[in-house]
Amino acid sequence: MSTVWTVHVIEYARASRQPMASLVWGTFSDPPIDTPFSFVLAQGAGRTVLCDCGFMKQGNGADFAIKFGIPDWVSPLRMLNRMSIEPTDVTDIVLSHAHFDHAGSIDQFPNAQIYLQKAEMLSWIEAFALPPRFSILTDVVDPDDIRSALEASFEHRLTLVDGDRDDLLPGLSVRLAKGHTMGQQFITLETATGRYAVAGDCIYSSRNLTGAGCGHQHRYVPLGAGIGSAWDQLLSFDCLEQSVDGDRSRIIILHDESRWPDFERVHEVEGMGIYKVA
Ligand SMILES: [Zn+2]
Repeated sequence: MSTVWTVHVIEYARASRQPMASLVWGTFSDPPIDTPFSFVLAQGAGRTVLCDCGFMKQGNGADFAIKFGIPDWVSPLRMLNRMSIEPTDVTDIVLSHAHFDHAGSIDQFPNAQIYLQKAEMLSWIEAFALPPRFSILTDVVDPDDIRSALEASFEHRLTLVDGDRDDLLPGLSVRLAKGHTMGQQFITLETATGRYAVAGDCIYSSRNLTGAGCGHQHRYVPLGAGIGSAWDQLLSFDCLEQSVDGDRSRIIILHDESRWPDFERVHEVEGMGIYKVA
């Protein structure tokens, strides 16, 4: 019997005046937008699971917040506290990928088993080892997060997933969906109202799928920022859609510029919303 998850989207930060073209390829004439940053909380069968976990505004995280223009930030720990969750309560963290805004607080959860694609972990080690002229590849990765993942491995708290895995946890599956990064994955969750997919950064915006307003109506449009190929990105879009039988309302977009209008906003902390999905 599969676990049925209770699922919330937790917003914790916002980038200001981000070019739309950094999210959706070719939208150079669109006005800049305020982009939300979020992660997902899934609770069920005695487990408290985070799908990505946000970043801390300390150490390199504080520099990243400046570098990427993210003035509005509330600690992910404070947002979880609003849901009566302490860091030690978190049993599992399933990371879509290792960019700082998705993996930048893994060191805050001492009991959590961390799940990451093997290709994601190894590709970042390979990329960091390249000469400095390649360093644009690692611009969005905090080396301290890679160190934290390595530390977790010494404590047997890091699981390197190699490709697709059904029921990584009961009712929670992952699909390798490279393109944004070399080992990006998305996560599906079974809930009382059916399956939802947490997109990670497989897509940034619904417009990557719909082509709306891009001159590409009904065609996939690549990401504005990614280190893998456009070809892989589009195949991953399709895999994401297929995972929810083509129902785009069941795809949770972590940087959704429309701020999840289909989900009920159940809490707020300093303007950051917590939304109930199921
Ligand atoms: Zn990313």
